[in-house]
Amino acid sequence: MYRPRWMNEELGILSDHVARFYAAEMVPNEERWREQGHVDREFWRKAGEAGILCASIPEEYGGAGGNFYHEAVLLTEQYRATGVSGFSNSIHSQIVAHYILNYGTEDQKRRWLPKMATGELVTAIAMTEPGAGSDLQSIRTNARMDGNSYVLNGSKMFITNGQLADLIVVVCKTDTEARARGISLLLLETEGAEGFRRGRNLEKIGQHGSDTSELFFDDVRVSPDNLLGGVEGQGFYQLMQQLPQERLVIGIRAAAVMERAVEDTIAYTSQREAFGKTLFDLQNTRFKLAEAKTTAHIARVFIDDCIERLVAGELDVATAAMLKWWSTQMQCDVVDECLQLHGGYGYMKEFGIAQMYADARVQKIYGGANEIMKELIARSLTE
Ligand SMILES: Cc1cc2nc3c(=O)[nH]c(=O)nc-3n(C[C@H](O)[C@H](O)[C@H](O)COP(=O)(O)OP(=O)(O)OC[C@H]3O[C@@H](n4cnc5c(N)ncnc54)[C@H](O)[C@@H]3O)c2cc1C
Repeated sequence: MYRPRWMNEELGILSDHVARFYAAEMVPNEERWREQGHVDREFWRKAGEAGILCASIPEEYGGAGGNFYHEAVLLTEQYRATGVSGFSNSIHSQIVAHYILNYGTEDQKRRWLPKMATGELVTAIAMTEPGAGSDLQSIRTNARMDGNSYVLNGSKMFITNGQLADLIVVVCKTDTEARARGISLLLLETEGAEGFRRGRNLEKIGQHGSDTSELFFDDVRVSPDNLLGGVEGQGFYQLMQQLPQERLVIGIRAAAVMERAVEDTIAYTSQREAFGKTLFDLQNTRFKLAEAKTTAHIARVFIDDCIERLVAGELDVATAAMLKWWSTQMQCDVVDECLQLHGGYGYMKEFGIAQMYADARVQKIYGGANEIMKELIARSLTE
């Protein structure tokens, strides 16, 4: 099996530990989570106890004191476990926690990170709105000062962890006249927040174990202490700085799912017989799987290079965009080929490959649509 060059003994032990944790605590529950439309709240606590939440947050803030190599191991094992997983730890630990760590005031870090590490707080990030997705600068959700608090108004769309979140990073305008410079990140503590409402858990074609919601803010009062970093107008800059890491997270998932899809398909075609031999004995099957394995391998090599660059502080926007569009496109292509080799069974929901197929599609849309990724790369061509 492919082993990254950066994988050392400590990371190998972590990999075995989390693989056992996911096999015992996640895999047996996935089907039930898909039916109920979200992961159990209790699972977040268990993940906290197992040291899976906030792995790359310093110990002084309750995290495990690791870096992105640790996060990469956790993500890879999570998606290799079944190829489908509703546990949106990436939003919580690899995205929201890093906004707070990198831009939060000391008080904000101490207030929220330790509870995020135990799973006491589940978090979400709310950028997208019904009228603004790719064009983030045109969001309309706004927060204006009134007396000694902000008053938050607007709505958000497609928010992962939206049903369970106790703490939401709300991307809003603190200056409605400005575009990028008017954007701030306001952290909303949902418990007892008057005027805050969660819409229903949206019905998706895949990723059923992960909840996705519309959120509504109607004159919600938020303390200025919850403005990330304490200075208005920094939100767009903060978002742009974090996006390469978010796109790398999506790429790691893509590679892990490709590997799992290939493994499942080798196993299936090796036992299914047609024309007096196994499907795996047919040259087309062998060649398709050889191609899929090669693609998964190239993705892994590219991703490992990006992981090393990220840890060194050198992952640039264009390279992260290349990884995001290419790996997710390859994920969709590989999973589609693998489904084909399952025949009719591949179209049945009870087969993992069918769920991987449905789950894969949105990888090309969220985290910045793949067309936006190509725009970012194209812009870098003449720099
Ligand atoms: C399951 C799921 C989970 C999500 N989780 C979150 C979350 O946790 N938080 C959050 O904030 N958002 C989340 N999103 C939202 C996601 O990030 C947006 O859907 C995405 O950014 C695209 O925005 P949009 O849907 O408004 O599409 P639009 O912006 O309307 O774009 C539609 C399509 O138009 C094309 N397009 C748009 N702009 C350009 C351009 N400049 N050049 C060329 N083509 C273009 C692309 O093909 C694009 O897919 C989630 C979405 C889904 C489906």
